[in-house]
Amino acid sequence: MGNREPGMGTKGDQWAEELAVPAVRALRAYDPGHDLVALRRRAAGTGLVELGSNENPWGPSPRALDAAAAVLGELHRYPDPLGGNLKRALAAEHGIDASQVVLGNGSHELLMQLAQAFAGPGVDVVASQFGFAVYAIAARAVGAHLRVAPALPLDDAMPRGHDLDAIAGAITPATRLVYLANPNNPTGTWFARDAFAAFMARVPDHAIVVLDEAYAEIAAAPDFGSALPLLGAHRNLVITRTFSKAYALAGLRVGYAIAHSALAAVLERLRESFNVNAVALAAAEAALGDRGWLRDTLAANTREREALAAALRERGWPVSPSQTNFLLVEFGARTARIEQALLERNVVLRPMAGYGLPECLRISVGGPGENRRLLAALDELATTGDFSATDQRG
Ligand SMILES: *Cc1c(COP(=O)(O)O)cnc(C)c1O
Repeated sequence: MGNREPGMGTKGDQWAEELAVPAVRALRAYDPGHDLVALRRRAAGTGLVELGSNENPWGPSPRALDAAAAVLGELHRYPDPLGGNLKRALAAEHGIDASQVVLGNGSHELLMQLAQAFAGPGVDVVASQFGFAVYAIAARAVGAHLRVAPALPLDDAMPRGHDLDAIAGAITPATRLVYLANPNNPTGTWFARDAFAAFMARVPDHAIVVLDEAYAEIAAAPDFGSALPLLGAHRNLVITRTFSKAYALAGLRVGYAIAHSALAAVLERLRESFNVNAVALAAAEAALGDRGWLRDTLAANTREREALAAALRERGWPVSPSQTNFLLVEFGARTARIEQALLERNVVLRPMAGYGLPECLRISVGGPGENRRLLAALDELATTGDFSATDQRG
């Protein structure tokens, strides 16, 4: 090859890599965990216990299912590009203006769009150690510099939780975005409403704080509170929410951001015209209207979470405090083998090595039957193998 352009004449799969922009070259794809389709096929007889993705095992509101079904006759039509009905329902729900709402194909999409809009080469993005994996991907995808604030120590009341002082301290004059979650995934920890208000008072106006409240509907600790009341005082605050967790609509992909209307208008420029599909729009709106169902599903989750946490602690496995629908659990040096042994028994948990937590597993709270099967599998390992917590601590 005479005139060698980047990517041309390179053998193997390197050529696409070389054509990619530098930020994308350095990127790793989001790790979704196991290949669930293959695992389901293998477990066809007994059924797979899926506790790896923080889904709501109770399923969505029947009203959401009816609304979804009602749209099926209209699938030849494009969805409402404005998502107006859902935006108005969300505005009424949260006491804000519809112009403050941006809809996403899941909140993951919005987290990426925020980086596209406000970060890039030469810009700092701040996130916490043990923060949600998407934040780092969003920052790196646009070539921004990621500054990671250390998490709280293990002996804190919120082990590995967000350290708001450390996060504030990591902000520089070049910072345009700060990503944090309350409660946080994968730790399950949370910070107090008042602590976040004090944090926001310290953040300079040029740094946009993206507060991911994916689990906010679930959190019920007395000191927890959504940051929605702070929106009026801080134009640099963006809150993201999702219908994937409490509302049990993960399969439909719908999330939203709430922000100052000027910031929302900037995000709208990047939104694909029909990013939220018609079924999702209808189901999300109907789910939002079913308060009784939400109350019941949250009560069931809390009951099962506390029972599961107690059962794990009884067996000697340390469990982090959680205000979510999952638990972060310490399994020590044999974590990878335990995870594998559970997988062989058709129980899927989420390994945490990618988060720098190779001695932890994240366990989504299942229904009573699923949680029982998990505990039975752990008990079986304890009696047949060398995997019990007491053996380990000797
Ligand atoms: C699950 C989750 C999301 C939601 O993702 P969707 O794209 O809305 O399904 C966002 N943030 C955190 C911290 C999560 O755990």
